[in-house]
Amino acid sequence: LELARWRSRQAEELVGEVTVAYNKDTSPNKLNLGVGAYRTEEGKPLVLNVVRRAEQILVNDESRVKEYLGITGLADFNKLSAKLILGADSPAIQDNRVTTVQCLSGTGSLRVGAEFLARHYHEKTIYIPNPTWGNHPKIFNLAGLSVKTYRYYDPATKGLDFQGLLEDLGAAPSGAIVLLHACAHNPTGVDPTLEQWEQIRQLIRSKQLLPFFDSAYQGFASGSLDADAESVRMFVADGGECLAAQSYAKNMGLYGERVGALSIVCKAADVASRVESQLKLVIRPMYSNPPIHGASIVAAILKDSEMYQEWTVELKAMADRILSMRQQLFEALSARGTPGDWSHIIKQIGMFTFTGLNSEQVAFMTKEYHIYMTSDGRISMAGLSSRTVPHLADAIHAAVT
Ligand code: PMP
Repeated sequence: LELARWRSRQAEELVGEVTVAYNKDTSPNKLNLGVGAYRTEEGKPLVLNVVRRAEQILVNDESRVKEYLGITGLADFNKLSAKLILGADSPAIQDNRVTTVQCLSGTGSLRVGAEFLARHYHEKTIYIPNPTWGNHPKIFNLAGLSVKTYRYYDPATKGLDFQGLLEDLGAAPSGAIVLLHACAHNPTGVDPTLEQWEQIRQLIRSKQLLPFFDSAYQGFASGSLDADAESVRMFVADGGECLAAQSYAKNMGLYGERVGALSIVCKAADVASRVESQLKLVIRPMYSNPPIHGASIVAAILKDSEMYQEWTVELKAMADRILSMRQQLFEALSARGTPGDWSHIIKQIGMFTFTGLNSEQVAFMTKEYHIYMTSDGRISMAGLSSRTVPHLADAIHAAVT
């Protein structure tokens, strides 16, 4: 397990190195599939039209000032964020059982949640999937939690190791925290089905484990904000406790604005308000209060039905482009008769495909085809375009034959 954790950390650190090597390459055919951000067909970063519109409104509003926000951030933003992840009609919200604090994107939300748990929760062990996003072990370790892994990915099927997952969570001590990717698991692109989620929920509840959802890709995975939040909503519907860290980096393209939220769903309203007081004590000495601009953009979009609508259309367009890249790559490999089963490319979900290519094959593709990716074989589908798919398919074909 140590080795697996080390490898996932390595993979993440390599993203930086991958980009450095890519920048040095002078080939006109070079292709960077290491980036963890959306790119257009032309390979450019994208600012959503609705975000530009919201920013224009904010700039033109002369009543707006730059005063500090409160410790927990923008109140509207917090309410709207809770509704977005839990559902507008969530009974937990109606019962005032949810406390939401604005944090610094997904990472900051995870860290605040982890610091809170390390201080106040009785069980200090968190189980994270193997593999997982390379920052997870560091975030939780540094917050003072002890990190263990549960089986998640099966290299043989390039799918979920569901039995392994159930066994490992079943063997976890009662009360342990479990980190779950709400959708579009990074780096594997492998998510449980709804039936599997239901079994995971039953196991977690029966063992009184505490679910902590990382939701970095809501709407970005399937194109539907509701579908991508189903896992979280299933756990909230049973009346039990859970935490959810939300990021607006991917789904609103607000990467550098660092806007996100941590929601803690409690069993009773008085607990939620005590939890909020404690969250303030965590946040105050860390960064006093969060930044105002990004949260104001999100709040402006979420509270205006017309802008919300426009956002969902633009969000779906990003998700659809990624789905289309999956389809095109799969078809290009089929057309070449590339040996092996490549159906995982269209089965996996979200920004990344865990190709199953090994580090030698990756090195070969970089050397011979100027294609850059992490050595674990993870490619960012968002970095591809219709123009570059044939080049990638040629490279994969050559690497495996
Ligand atoms: N969780 C996962 C699984 C991620 O992939 C990411 C982004 N790479 C994040 C959280 C956090 O991103 P950010 O802090 O930019 O919102």
